[in-house]
Amino acid sequence: MNSPFHSQPFFLMRNPIQTYQWGSRTALPTLFNIPNPDQQPQAEIWMGAHPKASSEIQVGADWLPLNTLIESDPQSALSAEIYQRFGELPFLFKVLAADTALSIQVHPSKQEAEHGYQKENQQGIPLSAAHRNYKDPNHKPELVYALTAFKAMNGFRPHAEIIENVTKINSGSLNAVFQAFVDTPAADTLQSAFSQLLTLQSTEKTEAVNALMVVADENATEAPFDTIIDLAAQYPGDIGLFAPLLLNVVTLAPGEAMFLHARTPHAYIHGVGLEVMANSDNVLRAGLTPKHIDVDELIACTSFIPITPDQIKLPPQSMANGEYYPVSVPDFSFSRYRQVADIDCDMQSAEILFAVNAPLTVVHAEQTLTIEKGESVFIPACTATYTLSAMGDVVRVKNTLNT
Ligand SMILES: [Zn+2]
Repeated sequence: MNSPFHSQPFFLMRNPIQTYQWGSRTALPTLFNIPNPDQQPQAEIWMGAHPKASSEIQVGADWLPLNTLIESDPQSALSAEIYQRFGELPFLFKVLAADTALSIQVHPSKQEAEHGYQKENQQGIPLSAAHRNYKDPNHKPELVYALTAFKAMNGFRPHAEIIENVTKINSGSLNAVFQAFVDTPAADTLQSAFSQLLTLQSTEKTEAVNALMVVADENATEAPFDTIIDLAAQYPGDIGLFAPLLLNVVTLAPGEAMFLHARTPHAYIHGVGLEVMANSDNVLRAGLTPKHIDVDELIACTSFIPITPDQIKLPPQSMANGEYYPVSVPDFSFSRYRQVADIDCDMQSAEILFAVNAPLTVVHAEQTLTIEKGESVFIPACTATYTLSAMGDVVRVKNTLNT
């Protein structure tokens, strides 16, 4: 059988759009001219080969699913080395458009995911069960890059800030939860407080949330209470409303990025961004959700070490013709070019290029392809080299080996 990856060097992508309740009805039409005739909450565009919703690529005149094409000739698509190491396209690349907040979540480490996946298999919990925590044995490092102002929570605040915030709330049940941590601030006392907070019973929980909202209303224009007011309109009564007191609240400016480490609680609150992640679905939820919260498993997979605000953003580093955002995992790399003409790109893996705000053109001996803003192109590893020109910003996602 002739491999499609040797029939042409570039493949225009047709990407599935996921509609979730928190998605934006206006962002994708405004930024990328993507139609939304039925006013759907367009939450995510998936660019990749995930079995749940694979992209299609244009091969000649046909549109074919990328995941089955990769399976038919993985070495040409991914490179022999990547195929051997990962067995699949190692990353999933998304456009994410959040109108309201996503759930607060933690992703397990690789080791925890392997162990948890095996344990739930042995317990006979179906992969589709609502209370199943581990959908696969993989970790899920994530990078998010802001296209508009992008507000999120990421990691525990320094202890002094948590104490300052929680002691503003005049609540008997909250004081009881945090007393040991306030007396002796440390990772273990924070872990105990967090666990008790998430398991507060109905009357205590109501009392604590009501006391929180009294202070939030009195300080509605001040951080972090402004965020709590916004979240309360979306998730009234949810225990996750306490999260802005405990977690860093950060707003990325367009072009800024941050990394979401394993074992670190985080939530996206509002904005449009690009997100790239390892090919995994492992999510442990911690609030702002009607879904299952497995507190014991969550606590076991969470690091209670604070992240200081200066550690949150991921400063880009210069490279020839652009910038890259250094990440500590081999599952993906993320770089950006701005207005480039005929630069040479050498490849070590499959790549996806996304045109952020203007057309881009890729050239190879056999083909020239121009895509518009909001579109993406899949380039199999066997293409080996190409030249890139762009009138605006381009994001390039691939694997970088030996780092
Ligand atoms: Zn996440």
